[in-house]
Amino acid sequence: MPVRTGKQYIDGLKSRPRDVWLRGKCIRDVTSHPAFAAPVRQIAKLYDMQHDPKYSDILTYEVPATGKRAGTAFMMSKTVEDLRKRRDAFRVWSEATFGMMGRSPDFLNTTVMAFAESSDVFGRIDKRFQTNVERYYEYVRDNDLFLTHALITPQIDRSRSSFDQADEFLHMGVVRETAEGIIVRGARMLATLGPIADEVLVYNLPGLKPGDERHAMAFAMPVDAKGIKQICREPFDEGGRSSYDHPLATNFEEPDALLIFDDVLVPWDRVFLHNNVEVANAMYVDTNLRNHTAHQTAARGVAKLQLAIGTAVALSEAVKIDGFLHVQEKLGECIGWLELAKGCIVRSEVEFETTRMGTIRTAFTPLQTLRAFMQRTYPKVIEVLQTLGAGGLLMMPSAADFASPIADDVAKYYQGAAGMPAEDRVRLFKLAWDLAGDAFGSRQLQYERYYAGDPVRLMASNYQFYQYKDELKSLIDRALLLAEDPKKIGKSA
Ligand SMILES: Cc1cc2nc3c(=O)[nH]c(=O)nc-3n(C[C@H](O)[C@H](O)[C@H](O)COP(=O)(O)OP(=O)(O)OC[C@H]3O[C@@H](n4cnc5c(N)ncnc54)[C@H](O)[C@@H]3O)c2cc1C
Repeated sequence: MPVRTGKQYIDGLKSRPRDVWLRGKCIRDVTSHPAFAAPVRQIAKLYDMQHDPKYSDILTYEVPATGKRAGTAFMMSKTVEDLRKRRDAFRVWSEATFGMMGRSPDFLNTTVMAFAESSDVFGRIDKRFQTNVERYYEYVRDNDLFLTHALITPQIDRSRSSFDQADEFLHMGVVRETAEGIIVRGARMLATLGPIADEVLVYNLPGLKPGDERHAMAFAMPVDAKGIKQICREPFDEGGRSSYDHPLATNFEEPDALLIFDDVLVPWDRVFLHNNVEVANAMYVDTNLRNHTAHQTAARGVAKLQLAIGTAVALSEAVKIDGFLHVQEKLGECIGWLELAKGCIVRSEVEFETTRMGTIRTAFTPLQTLRAFMQRTYPKVIEVLQTLGAGGLLMMPSAADFASPIADDVAKYYQGAAGMPAEDRVRLFKLAWDLAGDAFGSRQLQYERYYAGDPVRLMASNYQFYQYKDELKSLIDRALLLAEDPKKIGKSA
């Protein structure tokens, strides 16, 4: 199958009923439930864009092995132009959702590409696993599937390892091996877009301890496989609110779910890693995963910063606070963060690294810096938006007031500076509220803080793995040579 259309994606969801639980009810067909209508529509739009002549050259490429077109995120890179094409594709999809849908299909398409590009890491345990990774990449690419992923164990007792929890299978683990595959039991938390995905990819982030062998695993399964259950968080929007009042929340809410595996059989050809703590811990660093995924998340993060900062600028102009020096200082700082982020992306492409396979990948340091930096920068931008929007964010009328007996009052008292009509000013402040105040905005903030892992440990790893430490030190050594021997100075004084 060449790249899918939105309709093919939706038909695929319908044809594979799943166990998605929301407020105590099981929803088998997510396409017909209001809580999932908006994200399904948005993902479908992204698939349709692959067929739009305006975008298709950016969003797709011809796969040399098949002669068919696939999503650009699946493309391995040989040149800087290839890396730029990848970034352009990330940008086009991110701008379509204003960066609000962090786990659009290109994120995990990139992940499976990065795994296949460094499949030898999986081969360290078993050559079969290496082949499985390569075949799975081709399968996802050639069928243009939409994946979710679930890496994090549930927060039951963070002071204990997985094997040491009250029940060994609270954190997902392998119960036993059979001739057909491995039997997996337990939970993983927070599969964003899981309810409306085709498949789930499970692997570990580093941190497993000796004893965690049965928790060291990587595999992929269709989300409708027997024994897989998803428990959704309460939705913020279920179709009852107007897009005037909540322009972002009514369009871009990504459902999040806890994934439970009730003794699920993962066939051997879907197993990529099993029973090896050392390789599970090394996987993140030794594959090309972190380089390539950080490229996608950086491009997406820039789109989101642009929307948030653009909203802060427009809001300031709307009520003419933009002439005050402290407002300009705040906006200037936000703009500086945005431009630094764009600079990191370009640097990661120009200073590319060559992989063991002879392909290239974006440089790690600028993207790692950006990944850790965004966790702290986005909340600061939102704080600027809250500070500048102030009480105006809260006193906005609703869409219905514009066509009611109080319409004249609304038109009069909600107008902006320089004759800005109330309808436009309120629309702008509603956008700002979705970003900075609504439950949707709170999730977006929490997403940026946590999607790449714990901000504390991530920032510390910026120091731990900094690749230019020796350069820093040699500079210091040279500077220290400027200081004379204190004993000599003491004698001559
Ligand atoms: C909106 C949203 C969407 C997400 N989507 C996905 C997704 O699609 N797929 C996915 O796999 N994950 C996803 N995540 C999960 C994300 O990867 C985790 O939230 C993140 O890795 C942090 O883990 P945690 O939430 O369990 O926090 P914890 O690790 O439990 O941390 C909680 C607090 O305790 C501290 N702490 C805990 N353990 C330690 C320790 N050992 N050492 C030092 N400090 C510690 C942390 O510093 C932190 O302040 C998402 C998260 C959010 C918020």
